Amino acid sequence: MTTPTIPWWQQPVRMLRVDFTPHFSSVLNEDLEQLARSHKDQWQINCEWIVGSLSVDGKAYQTTFAAEGYERCRGFENFDFLRTYTPIAHKHGIHVLSYLNMHWYDYSFGDRHPDWEQIQSDGRPYGRINPLYRGGTTLCVNSPWRQWAFGLIREAMKTGIDGVFLDGPLIYPDCCSCPSCRRQFKNKFGQDIPKENWQDPLWRDFLEFREDSLARFLADAQQAVRQVNPEGVIFLNAGSWSPATWRCGIDNQKLAPFQTFNGAESFFHYAYAANLYDTLMTGKFLRASDNPAVVFTHYMNGAWHYLNLPAGEVQLALVQTMASGTNGWLAFMQPSLTSQPESYRPVQELWSFQDTHQEYFKQTQSVAQVAILFSKRTGRNYVSALENIYEQLGPGKEQNLIVGQKGEKIIDWQARKSLCEELVALAYKGYFHILTQEHVLFDILLDGQLTDEKLAKYKTVVLPDVACLSCSDAEALKRFVQQGGTLLASFEAGFYDEKGAFTDQLFDLLGIEKVEGVFPVMMGENYSQFIQSALNWKEETRIERGPYALKVQPRTDVQTPAVFHEPILSFYAPLTSLSKHPAMLIQSFGQGKVIYYPEAIGHFYAKTGMISCRQRMIQAIEYLRGTSLVELDAPTSVSMEVFRQPSRLLIHLINNSVDGRPVCQFFPVQDIQLMLHIGTKPRRIFALRENKNLNISISEECVTIKNIGLVLYDIVVVEY
Ligand SMILES: [Zn+2]
Repeated sequence: MTTPTIPWWQQPVRMLRVDFTPHFSSVLNEDLEQLARSHKDQWQINCEWIVGSLSVDGKAYQTTFAAEGYERCRGFENFDFLRTYTPIAHKHGIHVLSYLNMHWYDYSFGDRHPDWEQIQSDGRPYGRINPLYRGGTTLCVNSPWRQWAFGLIREAMKTGIDGVFLDGPLIYPDCCSCPSCRRQFKNKFGQDIPKENWQDPLWRDFLEFREDSLARFLADAQQAVRQVNPEGVIFLNAGSWSPATWRCGIDNQKLAPFQTFNGAESFFHYAYAANLYDTLMTGKFLRASDNPAVVFTHYMNGAWHYLNLPAGEVQLALVQTMASGTNGWLAFMQPSLTSQPESYRPVQELWSFQDTHQEYFKQTQSVAQVAILFSKRTGRNYVSALENIYEQLGPGKEQNLIVGQKGEKIIDWQARKSLCEELVALAYKGYFHILTQEHVLFDILLDGQLTDEKLAKYKTVVLPDVACLSCSDAEALKRFVQQGGTLLASFEAGFYDEKGAFTDQLFDLLGIEKVEGVFPVMMGENYSQFIQSALNWKEETRIERGPYALKVQPRTDVQTPAVFHEPILSFYAPLTSLSKHPAMLIQSFGQGKVIYYPEAIGHFYAKTGMISCRQRMIQAIEYLRGTSLVELDAPTSVSMEVFRQPSRLLIHLINNSVDGRPVCQFFPVQDIQLMLHIGTKPRRIFALRENKNLNISISEECVTIKNIGLVLYDIVVVEY
């Protein structure tokens, strides 16, 4: 019997993209043999992106290779870059993907094909009103341009490359109302494309139409690849965990069946780098659907593109990528190397480690017993039906997101949608940070994954602050808890159906009889208090309340150990008495248990880092989940991801203890301890990178590994 071979793209892949300036043709001054060798030896890659259609100046329609019927790029008239470089790269064990720009076309190209341009709702071409980069327009996936694009993909595949990466297309905000889109929408829905109005179901249909259009384009593009090479790879930037990706018509899950990798960016930018775990979040989100995943890391130094990031930043990104079970990707500008010829060193060390130990990265399964829902559908459809959350108190906050015209009140949908989107984004971030800092092993679940089969492997499901759930999602969650599973939820989790309409379908599971309203929205000076001891909380403990909290009437038989204070409407105003509204609901449901906080605690934590918020969440998780398979005793800045292979556990430990952003220094951590409850005696325990000798003791109940030290990253391997 032969062992099935794993395709290269299902094994650990390390990708590199190098740009050449001032014009891409300067690549022709390079010794291509030497270039490929340095990418292999110095950068330790096994996959390279090479430019097939230009990424700059709106010249996406010009190619660096011979493509029948397409325009050649200046400098490449007599030189076929793809056909020349690909065999050289292959010789060095590097797979080649051609980068094809699919979104930036200069106006001269647009002028030749006016019916291809993306059109705004006001009838004007998007790119003429919002010039892309330094100028240029963008084309529509439903227009005849699609055939032009598929032809280009086929021509690229004929050069012998292993696949293509499509940079775009996107469906830009307020697009597309081109003749093709209008015709197709009318055929499908019998009506014209509607204006933005979140109370109009047709508007939500239009948003889905945009996403479906992009998915259909990718499906046909995949066919174009496979017509030339049935094994060919194709993917595009399918968007990260952000709830805002609907604005560009992107739904990662709709695209997944038609692409080889799920890829998304996690770029460091100076002054915006507030999320220490952005790469880990991106990786874990991408891993949630079935394709191999890749996190794109910009090695360029923020907006200083001709220099590269400090070593600490790229190290942090690469180890978070590896520990999330995803593939790495780096991009830099070739001219950066004249000033920083040693840029490859931090990358070489980590990627050669992965290459040497690649068997530990292949076909791994998460062992998490906790799963959290990151729902794109919620990002797209959630606009809170609770009017009062749009009225915010506090200094400088005089908004109710209604614009008045001649005395009438018109809802400012864009402002409301932005506020709701921020609420969802911060809910994900807050929950993710707490679970990571508290060393909870957890997976991310996507829309459509709340099924009996998928939930069976988990002990606890988490719905963070807001979730639009279909009827079948809600039913599956109820069965899950009835059969002994547990649920942690907060705020408006499950209050909306998959189209975003308010529903009470989850109220019985959460222990809610009725929602009576919203506390006045104010950040600060509002509280809740425990009126009886619960979890590790003592009676009379007062804790901080976040800005968004609901007045909920609980069902009978539901425990309500904490209640909100009556609202305090200004700073330093007297402390108010306790209200009748619970701040925490605990109930049994069938054989399982549910804890529900009628407060947006993920959002609150992301905004403030409030310790009581973290304690509320982690105490609930520990109560609901019980003992973890692997427990980590380490500072909160150490994070852990654990995977299983046959007869093996792989415990990834990352030291996120950094001096700031950009990362200049990692503060080493000592005396980390792991406790394993694996129910069997391990054969061998060892670490792959930093810990040569492990202090191991084995008892009936558990395996303890003491005195682990961590500078950056290690993997503890437990074989049994
Ligand atoms: Zn269109």
